[in-house]
Amino acid sequence: MSTPAEPLPVASCTVCGTEVEMDVARCPSCGLARPTARGPQVLARSGFWMLGIVLFAVYAVVLLIVASAH
Ligand SMILES: [Zn+2]
Repeated sequence: MSTPAEPLPVASCTVCGTEVEMDVARCPSCGLARPTARGPQVLARSGFWMLGIVLFAVYAVVLLIVASAH
């Protein structure tokens, strides 16, 4: 599994959407510092949604149990 002609990893700026290289210090278009450093933010957001889904699932299961008990 080797890709000899692997292109440079390119990501887009989180503010203006300009394609910039990974690990670039500053966006050339809007000047945002570390425009591609958004991994933890995305992870936190998906974690937040996962927490909400899990909480809703627990709530639904409890509701079903209570409804079937009465
Ligand atoms: Zn930008």
